[in-house]
Amino acid sequence: MQNVTLLGATGSIGQSTLDVLSRHPDEYRVFALTAHRQLDALMAQAKVYQPRYVVIADESDYAKAKSLMSETGVNAELLAGPQALEFVSGHDEVHTVMAAIVGAAGLMPTMAAVKAGKRVLLANKESLVMSGKLFMDEVSRSGATLLPIDSEHNAIFQCLPADYRYGQPQASGIAKILLTGSGGPFLNTPKQTLASVTPDQACAHPNWSMGRKISVDSATMMNKGLEFIEACWLFGVAPAQIQVVIHPQSVIHSMVQYLDGSVLAQMGHPDMRTPIAHALAYPHRIDAGVAPLDFSQLLDFSFRLPDFEQYPNLKLAIDACAAGQYATTALNAANEIAVDAFLQGQLGFTQIAVINATVLEKIEPSELESLEAIIEYDGLARMLARQAIDKLRS
Ligand code: NDP
Repeated sequence: MQNVTLLGATGSIGQSTLDVLSRHPDEYRVFALTAHRQLDALMAQAKVYQPRYVVIADESDYAKAKSLMSETGVNAELLAGPQALEFVSGHDEVHTVMAAIVGAAGLMPTMAAVKAGKRVLLANKESLVMSGKLFMDEVSRSGATLLPIDSEHNAIFQCLPADYRYGQPQASGIAKILLTGSGGPFLNTPKQTLASVTPDQACAHPNWSMGRKISVDSATMMNKGLEFIEACWLFGVAPAQIQVVIHPQSVIHSMVQYLDGSVLAQMGHPDMRTPIAHALAYPHRIDAGVAPLDFSQLLDFSFRLPDFEQYPNLKLAIDACAAGQYATTALNAANEIAVDAFLQGQLGFTQIAVINATVLEKIEPSELESLEAIIEYDGLARMLARQAIDKLRS
């Protein structure tokens, strides 16, 4: 029986994880559930899964959460605040941590799991984008097992040889990683009309059902850009060894091209329960509740290269990856602020890239050698992004 802490239980990945866990009650036990604003949903989950700890991110919600807990009849210990998130990530009795908080808020609790040497199921790509080298150094120091949840990275992981040596793709006969993406809801939308798209249109992804922030990132392809950066760190490859390929059907989740001309692909329905089940059970396989692919129904399989004029955020991310840690940290922070402003109707869709580019232009490069330095720099980039938004709106 493995104890699992679920960071971000109320989110899209959190709910899919609970669905997979509930299919295997003899293998996994929910140890802790965490959430931020959706307290009702958290208590409803706690009622069903009976964790030892229920954790809320915001200490000021403690009294409200406590009374909801007794109304719902949940019998667990209630904790609150950033340190409580780290406590349930690094707890001695925890075997596996699902890191599924959205955004920079996921960095410290995910790091706590890594430092404690846990089996870390990484959905929170932002933590790698922000702290790549420090994060990977900590993984090797602590002996944590890092398994990717992003469907693309999970696919790449499955297509790599079992004896793949981190940072040495050529030694494993690898020519290139082919990172696939659907192109989002605006793949065939004329560029000139993108300025007026609404948050609901941007969040209506054709293939995947996800949280609103990552849905907007998919529409701008910033998500692919963040994944590009994530892939460099996860697999120890240079930017030149990754190519982004648009595959609108989202059946192939990514591929690895070998020096002998072979290309290995991982396929499946666009359903996050597949990578979640893979990572939970690795190296074994368990039922994820996902229907098998029916090849008689797969009518079309197409590919094309991304147009950087349609997706300027993707280009910004690839360039930031080449520039280094400071640029990826700044870009991630600026983008969180810009996407939030877009979702609140304060910024146009195409202005997200304008804000991101402005912050990258304005921010001074810096060596980021500690988590504290990264968090401070992230704050600076957020401030520059807010200033750029105010200027654009004035
Ligand atoms: P959601 O927005 O659906 O869920 C986010 C979760 O994080 C919720 O439980 C939310 O709590 C919690 N949360 C939000 N802000 C904070 C905070 N400040 N402190 C602590 N907890 C917080 O996101 P997704 O599930 O879509 O994505 C989660 C992560 O997984 C992201 O990093 C995303 O990039 C990645 N990912 C997601 C995929 C998907 O298919 N959804 C695919 C691949 C990667 P509450 O709801 O209670 O406010």
